[in-house]
Amino acid sequence: MKIYEYQAKEILRKFGIRVPIGKMAKTAKSAVKIAEKLNKKTVVKAQVHSGGRGKAGGIKLAETPQQVEQAATQILQMRIGGLKVRSVLIEEALNISHEYYLSFALDRHTGKTIAMASAEGGVEIEEVAAHSPEKIYKFHLDPAYGLMEFQVRETCQKLGLEHRMAKEFSEFMKKLYRIYLENDCVLAEINPLVLTAEGDFLAADAKMDLDENALFRHPDFLELREASEDDPLEVEAHKKKVPYVRLDGNIGILGNGAGLVMTTLDMVSREGGRPANFLDVGGGSNWETVKNSLEIVLRDKKVKGVFINIFGGISRCDEVAKGILEADKILNIKFPVVIRLSGTNEEEGRALLSHSRFIPASTMEEGAKKIVELTGGIGKEV
Ligand code: GDP
Ligand code: MN
Repeated sequence: MKIYEYQAKEILRKFGIRVPIGKMAKTAKSAVKIAEKLNKKTVVKAQVHSGGRGKAGGIKLAETPQQVEQAATQILQMRIGGLKVRSVLIEEALNISHEYYLSFALDRHTGKTIAMASAEGGVEIEEVAAHSPEKIYKFHLDPAYGLMEFQVRETCQKLGLEHRMAKEFSEFMKKLYRIYLENDCVLAEINPLVLTAEGDFLAADAKMDLDENALFRHPDFLELREASEDDPLEVEAHKKKVPYVRLDGNIGILGNGAGLVMTTLDMVSREGGRPANFLDVGGGSNWETVKNSLEIVLRDKKVKGVFINIFGGISRCDEVAKGILEADKILNIKFPVVIRLSGTNEEEGRALLSHSRFIPASTMEEGAKKIVELTGGIGKEV
């Protein structure tokens, strides 16, 4: 679960890492208010789950309230990495003398945490990684010992830091590791870690990715999730514990098992249709799960038809059929719904649906073809 820079910086602050003073704003007007309170040169930063904001024009320096307004207005209209910018962070601008890079991340190949540090941080870090990888110092942590004192010292030495600088950087590094560990992060990255002209170390940017599987240990993170997910339907689906991802087509897709749902998406696309979502009702789903899931799909106003593709293994087809009929009573579905039921209790399931207005399909291919035809066919715009 990615969180926004302003949220990540809140966490850094709580753990004693220095970050620039600032606040998030959703409109240009409140951006100006924040800037007026700061009363100094500011930087206006797009809050979006995408890197490379600087290069995309999503980071702007502003000296006057007018400039802040202008920058915020511009940035709030931008899309970066395909994502709409919905908020900006207004911060005191830093007097940057040098940019470092520092991160802890889960390395899935080794199953260990990897630490990375470089004296050449900033927006070109990918270039550095590609062309001069020796400038990024990397090492793995032993899960039993965590970050060791000698590793911290070695990092400072590799980065050419001495005396007070080494001392401050070491403190920073240990704090960031604690943050990574105690918040169950899969990534905690500071780029740039700034050394200011005044000689202070600050986190000018922060990227954090939290382990979804550990969310139960951090009930307060649910708030972060709600603020950080742009899509209200995805938030609701999460609450109902339904794996749901919104896509941009008009055919709602429901299936049981991620693999089957993916295949259904492919199949519908191959027939020329455009799926509106990925939704996995899961194995062993009962009728209420099906009803909840359909409810979510139907709240997407772009949906013009639904294809339900169920393979009954642990979930029984008759339970699913019941769910669909129950849902229909409550939801008043107005467009075509194609259903393919196959596996455990498929006869019973089909019998239950035989007197309904739902459209049966005996194979996935047939179902995909039917729903594409019924929703307007190939390439037709909604
Ligand atoms: P990213 O491009 O998404 O990684 O966004 P960053 O927050 O890392 O900002 C990109 C670049 O903008 C940084 O590397 C800095 O060079 C510059 N920048 C960010 N904040 C400030 C600031 O307060 N003052 C100055 N002078 N430059 C900044
Ligand atoms: Mn950055």
